[in-house]
Amino acid sequence: SCALVWFREDLRLADNPALHAALDSGKPALGLYVFDDATHGPRPLGGASRWWLAQSLRALARDCAAIGFPFVIRRGKTAEVVPAAVEETGADMVLWNRRYVASENQIDAALKERLRKDGREVESFNARLMFEPWEVTSKAGEPLKVYSPFWRACMARGEPRPPLPRPRKGKIAAAPALKGLTVDDLDLEPTTPDWAGGLREAWTPGETGARAALTDFIDHGLRGYADGRDRPDQPHVSRMSPHLRFGEVSPYQLWHAVERAKAEGDATATDVEKFRSELGWREFSYHLLHGNPDLATKNFNARFDAFPWKTPDSAHRKAWRKGLTGFPIVDAGMRQLWTTGWMHNRVRMICASFLIKDLMIDWREGEDWFWDTLVDADPANNSASWQWVAGSGADAAPYFRVFNPSLQGKKFDPQGDYVRAFVPELKDVPAKHIHEPWDAPREVLERAGVTLGETYPRRIVDHHAARDAALKAFGRIKDR
Ligand code: FAD
Repeated sequence: SCALVWFREDLRLADNPALHAALDSGKPALGLYVFDDATHGPRPLGGASRWWLAQSLRALARDCAAIGFPFVIRRGKTAEVVPAAVEETGADMVLWNRRYVASENQIDAALKERLRKDGREVESFNARLMFEPWEVTSKAGEPLKVYSPFWRACMARGEPRPPLPRPRKGKIAAAPALKGLTVDDLDLEPTTPDWAGGLREAWTPGETGARAALTDFIDHGLRGYADGRDRPDQPHVSRMSPHLRFGEVSPYQLWHAVERAKAEGDATATDVEKFRSELGWREFSYHLLHGNPDLATKNFNARFDAFPWKTPDSAHRKAWRKGLTGFPIVDAGMRQLWTTGWMHNRVRMICASFLIKDLMIDWREGEDWFWDTLVDADPANNSASWQWVAGSGADAAPYFRVFNPSLQGKKFDPQGDYVRAFVPELKDVPAKHIHEPWDAPREVLERAGVTLGETYPRRIVDHHAARDAALKAFGRIKDR
């Protein structure tokens, strides 16, 4: 008899309740990961996420080996591969941490039933969210649609539990190993062209990388987070999102790490509270996804079904994707996304607003591009955030609030450092003109070596005209 731990979106050893329970059982144990690109239903991972997954699985395999815990990777239909592995190992205990996408939930529920019928002990745990989506409700027992009461209801449930310790070598009885695949066998990474160079430079996926990034954030970013988190030119955000996405770190660990930082005088109460409330937005997204499994494709607010989106003009869409819109902050964001697989939150809002409101392209086009290119592409956060910007979401920004890209740039990247980092052709433009190169005196551009329309694009739309057109279109669905 042995315990099988099925890893999914929890690619870590510390604070892993399923793993912890296996070790507590005293049975010999082993770990399994199933790469399922055969089951119709769950949304396939995007390119950047596949790259991340490959690195994260390698790191997990290394970490498991270091503590003497057998870990195996297989590929195929989950509903077939998991029971086959249970059969082969003779596992009488199967443990996993919960996931929250409806199509995956259905697979898990069916597996649980089937394995239990077979006489196995099956247990699932909470590891990914601090508050289970179904546990938080209004007084009337309804799901919540507005963030503030949601987060208040979460907070009323009490402090999230402390993280579980990392298992140590020597504490584990290893079950006989299974034959498995290598990460290379999964073909997750690009070959030619190899577009992942920027990703490799920017990130260290895996639990150790996550821990180092967290320490770095706590030492250098957390103090000042509340005000600095809106500044893409400053190091005040944690960049924990891909690590959270793949479960290399848990929200419980983050929750308590920032508390410790406060106790040690490394952060103010305001910074800690703000950071936690952002983790709260992640919980809220999952709460919304739970009640609305089609959040990535269906307007939360059905009024938007009648919105007259423009058929995507492929030239506009291409310019947006490539960061060639002629609006420097938008271009910097879209290029940061393409080269590093991540974009600062403030800039995500600006770029999303630009696609939706300036170009009047359906938010789902943007959601899909982010899904493919973000290393943190998250089924709940990505769709909820796109709907939030579109105005079609729960507790969303009102549609008539249209971001002005150059004003946003001036406010949140006042020296233009963020733009310079990703739009090198503007690097010599002075701060005063960098967000509106079209208004810069000709000699300023000449000195900076910029010729609009040649070295850097002219604006693809006039923001004020585009804004008026979008508001007019919105007016048509407003009273429906
Ligand atoms: P920090 O500011 O350090 O925050 C810590 C954690 O809190 C984040 O890792 C994240 O888990 C959570 N968080 C912070 N802000 C938000 C938010 N606005 N909504 C939900 N959770 C939040 N986030 C994703 O994780 N995956 C996505 O696919 C995603 N797509 C987005 C698309 C758009 C159009 C927009 C506007 C936002 C999107 N976000 C997404 C939310 C947010 O931009 C990122 O979570 C954040 O930028 C990640 O950087 P960080 O870890 O440094 O954040």
